[in-house]
Amino acid sequence: MDKQILIVEDEKDCAELLRYHLQKENYQTVVARNGEEAIDAVQCYRLDAVLLDVMLPELSGWEVCRLLRESSKGKCLPIIMLTALSDEESRVKGLSLGADDYLSKPYSMKELLLKVRKHLDRQDAVRQFSARAQEQDTALQYMIHEMRNAMTVIGGYSGVALKKEDPRRYLKPIHVAAVHAESLLNDASLLSKLEKGGSSLPMETMDIVDLVKDVADTFHDGANKKRREIVIMNFRPCQVRVNRTAARQVLVNLLSNAGKYSPECGRIWVYFDEHPYSVDVSIKDEGCGIRQEELPRIFEKYYRAAGSEQVKGAGLGLFIVHLLAESMGGKITVMSDQGAGSTFTVSFVKAEEMALDSGRRGSVKAEQW
Ligand code: ADP
Repeated sequence: MDKQILIVEDEKDCAELLRYHLQKENYQTVVARNGEEAIDAVQCYRLDAVLLDVMLPELSGWEVCRLLRESSKGKCLPIIMLTALSDEESRVKGLSLGADDYLSKPYSMKELLLKVRKHLDRQDAVRQFSARAQEQDTALQYMIHEMRNAMTVIGGYSGVALKKEDPRRYLKPIHVAAVHAESLLNDASLLSKLEKGGSSLPMETMDIVDLVKDVADTFHDGANKKRREIVIMNFRPCQVRVNRTAARQVLVNLLSNAGKYSPECGRIWVYFDEHPYSVDVSIKDEGCGIRQEELPRIFEKYYRAAGSEQVKGAGLGLFIVHLLAESMGGKITVMSDQGAGSTFTVSFVKAEEMALDSGRRGSVKAEQW
């Protein structure tokens, strides 16, 4: 979006000259002829910076600067003071009233434009930083909220179980909450390791089919209320090089999403495609799908597709899946369209000694979960 700059200048020629040069640099401009108009303009327009003359009739530039800094809209606006007063005392006064910069007339237009650019760039960086901080806070709040819920369930049900003769029937919700809490903690810890960079995940060789079945069983044991079914197809033992926790987390996130974004009693298929050096694990659901135009952003941190508001989430799962898959030498892709379900495919690197091995394929239908 074009940047909009407020020129506060009572001399018409000076204001016109500034407007001409700023517009040449593709800035939009608003002109205020006195202090009151300047205060009004800051309230009415979406502005990105102010060029403020000091010698204004009635309300001086000093006063305008002070009032803007006290207002919510003017508090963070870059203000560059332009004035014929070049003495040190005036410069110090302007800066201590909250101006970001000070230029004495006659000033070089080139220098002025450079200063404008510099302050706008800094303003952008600050805005981005605070937007990010806001997002991180949301993710943290979500994590705290979910962990608190899990702990309430574990504490509540275990308290009841301790007083009962047959405590077994209270174990299921406790187990589900504990698995969810563990998954959140795994996400958080793997994410912070990977985002710090430099640290690589320790790898081991294991059978990916065993891992998939194990994770699917957890969902089944979780006794999900929506009674979905996971069907595991087209598999045979296949050794891959992975970090166990990370690979598990990838599958947990993908299966959990397939469940979250699917209707009741929907089916989820997990199938395998073997290549010479890698094996693809695809998780296909019959859910709401993702619109084509949103697919390129789906692995971005905190991105949530339109329509996901009713489903609990922080937009972190797929970002983590993407980071983890790549850190193990694999990758994640998605095929989806609105209303047509989604298929997420993650590829794992095969263990070398198994690359040319062959075996028998099979199919299993997991129970409802
Ligand atoms: P969360 O589910 O916590 O919002 P994710 O990073 O796991 O975060 O997913 C990002 C977004 O991608 C979700 O908000 C949702 O819009 C979309 N999404 C992910 N998986 C699916 C799926 N299987 N079906 C439909 N939409 C999905």
